Amino acid sequence: MNRTYDVVIAGGGVIGASCAYHLSRRQNLRIALIDAKRPGNATRASAGGLWAIGESVGLGCGVIFFRMMSAQRREAHGAAVAVDASTPHILPPAFFEFALQSNALYPQLHRELIVHHGMDFKFERTGLKYVIYDDEDRLYAEHIVSRIPHLADQLRWLDREALREAEPAVSHEAQGALEFLCDHQVSPFRLADAYTEGARQNGVDLYFNTNVTGVLRQGERVTGVRTAEQGTFHCGTLINAAGAWAAELSEQASGIRLPVKPVKGQILLTERMPKLLEGCLTTSDCYMAQKDNGEILIGSTTEDKGFDVSTTFPEVAGLVQGAIRCVPGLKDINLKRCWAGLRPGSPDELPILGPMAGVEGYLNACGHFRTGILTSAITGVMLEHLVHQEPLPLDITPFLADRFEAGLLKGVG
Ligand SMILES: Cc1cc2nc3c(=O)[nH]c(=O)nc-3n(C[C@H](O)[C@H](O)[C@H](O)COP(=O)(O)OP(=O)(O)OC[C@H]3O[C@@H](n4cnc5c(N)ncnc54)[C@H](O)[C@@H]3O)c2cc1C
Repeated sequence: MNRTYDVVIAGGGVIGASCAYHLSRRQNLRIALIDAKRPGNATRASAGGLWAIGESVGLGCGVIFFRMMSAQRREAHGAAVAVDASTPHILPPAFFEFALQSNALYPQLHRELIVHHGMDFKFERTGLKYVIYDDEDRLYAEHIVSRIPHLADQLRWLDREALREAEPAVSHEAQGALEFLCDHQVSPFRLADAYTEGARQNGVDLYFNTNVTGVLRQGERVTGVRTAEQGTFHCGTLINAAGAWAAELSEQASGIRLPVKPVKGQILLTERMPKLLEGCLTTSDCYMAQKDNGEILIGSTTEDKGFDVSTTFPEVAGLVQGAIRCVPGLKDINLKRCWAGLRPGSPDELPILGPMAGVEGYLNACGHFRTGILTSAITGVMLEHLVHQEPLPLDITPFLADRFEAGLLKGVG
């Protein structure tokens, strides 16, 4: 069967769904959202943190610090350190701006999706506390504060007593905390479902269990996609929102393989319990987020294991130990599930958005790594404006694929 759309979105995780929703609000385009859930798709694996500052300073992401103590000390003293995705470090100003603008959209988005579409993604104003156990932690916290003076009004130091008052369940081992006041949380799957259902109600056609297997081109222009289950789709614009699989799709569309690769994260879920945590917590071992239904998510690892989505004893045990160290009461609580997801990692940890040189009718919306839940809102807004060729709310230059050196963008001829 042949189908014709203005826009085809390949990938129906939180990013593709947000693009579909934002584009559908004007109801002037025919849009198809095509998705086949692959094992490890990130959205359903996520913790749902909207940790705009925490993520920007390398803390909200559940980085496990075990490899970084000496690097942290050196960076805090201003020495050059080689950092990688598993060592906490401060991201460039463009990312802060992107994350903060996205974060600011959630209160209104939350209302809008409830009022117009009956979908509640459980936006909760929780804050995020970086729990400090020792001098290393304090040094990194001080380093953060010194690097973001313009955000001082969003930071709060809690001494030992103030932390105990704010979070009675936290261990007496903790010396205090640095709190990021604007960092909140949502339910990640409800967010993706809310975007998707909003898009559907606005007229977007949803094709689930449908694999994009090839891209149609005429000269330099992308003209559609082939799917295994639903035949051919023709379109004016193809949006690549294929998460950790985006490199494959970009290669089919442009002959260039984007440097997006899967970065595995393991995460645990407890059984439901009465409110134990007032806000989200992050430590040098793990993070914890108690959701609106009482379950606590404990995350997460950062592993370079390709498309492997197994859960492994040492990593799960490490997260459990980290969680009990911070919140001793968890030792009596049952784990309900653990799983692994694949973050769509990019070399500089920034998303890859917008057009690519040498290919028309094609836009990237991928590479969101640790923060696709947080940054899905601004991504949807950016893609909406890109499709309509309108001015953007943010400078897109730092996010264009062309920022990568030719060696990272592998042409396949
Ligand atoms: C353990 C863990 C915890 C996280 N915690 C947070 C957090 O607290 N806050 C935050 O902001 N972010 C968090 N993230 C990151 C966040 O989940 C991701 O950045 C985000 O989900 C990426 O969304 P996406 O839509 O790009 O990818 P995905 O959710 O993976 O969606 C891509 C979809 O495209 C489909 N697809 C791919 N190729 C094709 C094809 N050819 N045809 C059809 N379908 C295709 C895939 O199967 C998938 O369904 C976390 C991630 C992990 C793994």
